[in-house]
Amino acid sequence: MNREHLRGLFSAKSARVDTNRGEEYYNSLFERCKKRVEELKRLEPVNGVDIMEVLEDEGVSRRDFLKWASAMTATLMLPASFTPLVAEAAEVMNRVPVIWLELQDCAGNTEALIRSDGPKVDELILDIISFEFNETLMTAAGHQAEEQLEDAMHHFKGKYLLFVEGAIPVGAGKEWCTIGASGETFEEHLHRVAKDAAAIVAVGTCATFGGVPAAAPNPTGAVGVMDIVKGKPIVNIPACPANPANMVGVILHYVLTGQIPELDSLLRPKFAFGYRIHDNCERRAHFDAGEFVEEWGDEGAQNNFCLYKVGCKGPMTFNNCSIIRYNESVNWPIGAGHGCIGCSEPDFWDKYAYERPMADANIKAPTGGVEKSVDEFGLGLLSAAAVGIGIHAAISAFAGKKDEGDE
Ligand code: SF4
Ligand code: SF4
Repeated sequence: MNREHLRGLFSAKSARVDTNRGEEYYNSLFERCKKRVEELKRLEPVNGVDIMEVLEDEGVSRRDFLKWASAMTATLMLPASFTPLVAEAAEVMNRVPVIWLELQDCAGNTEALIRSDGPKVDELILDIISFEFNETLMTAAGHQAEEQLEDAMHHFKGKYLLFVEGAIPVGAGKEWCTIGASGETFEEHLHRVAKDAAAIVAVGTCATFGGVPAAAPNPTGAVGVMDIVKGKPIVNIPACPANPANMVGVILHYVLTGQIPELDSLLRPKFAFGYRIHDNCERRAHFDAGEFVEEWGDEGAQNNFCLYKVGCKGPMTFNNCSIIRYNESVNWPIGAGHGCIGCSEPDFWDKYAYERPMADANIKAPTGGVEKSVDEFGLGLLSAAAVGIGIHAAISAFAGKKDEGDE
């Protein structure tokens, strides 16, 4: 394999996979992916680990692994015929080196990964892919850590995926957060490491949109990666924390196709953020029936009614946690009884994280159809000419009162 060819294997700049094509497109994509996986198989694992051996040691049977591959194929919006190929791609995921930077945040995304006590295949795979550098998890510190980062950047120049967790403070002086003995600011640090990355994956809402550090009055001038890094392919995986399944999905897509996934206007992969929470919510039937929790602990709460009136922002939020859930798929926030606070949307802390409906939220009428993506739904949600939830809620309340009166 010559140098040019090898560089091609790790270039993420090519066109994105189009998920709306026909059979001919998928046949040709299959052949391309197959060729790429074969080529990756010929490379040595960067960390010398056999992924299948580790999975087996952790008690994951071949059957479970294939079930996971089948679910992941569906998550990536690929036809079922891609399942065996997705399984093969997962086996060679550690041919792609990953550098992970921890910037201005609480490390919640890393915590979400390492705190699971019964890890799923997603978490196990993330554990054993080739993390060449991860400030939070590695044992090296100080000069030793800096050398490790330099080595990884030099050795895998142009080939590594750069995962970034945390916001970047760029307000007055930019010295709110510095790293290392040289006092490099986070902004300088990010620019230096991003320069030779094949692609950048911003993980969590702080790295994507500034998140909680950027909440008003944003004293440090916190911003997301896409606000300051230009000229590189960037994939945003927001949420607080980002779901490990979506992180694996992005790496797997890259391993399989050599491309970053198809993105929405906020650079979020459509396979994960093409769905509105509200459209896949287990309480949706109650919304449509006008059955709401009116206050915490009431009869509606005991009956798992819709949480809209106690502040659920599921109608404004795009994410797949209503489908794939958290904590080994055990549950998710709405399932546990609290409304969605829109954590995968820009400015969520100021715009959505309170326990009452938005005063001016006009959302489409119940049963009025499903918006397909954030682009079609539109960021101009609040000005949408649609029947308002307020009206619907008022009608439901009126109907309820009328029923009471009729009795
Ligand atoms: S408003 Fe919230 S709880 Fe109600 S159906 Fe929509 S997403 Fe589910
Ligand atoms: S339900 Fe909403 S707030 Fe909760 S994790 Fe999902 S997107 Fe974030």
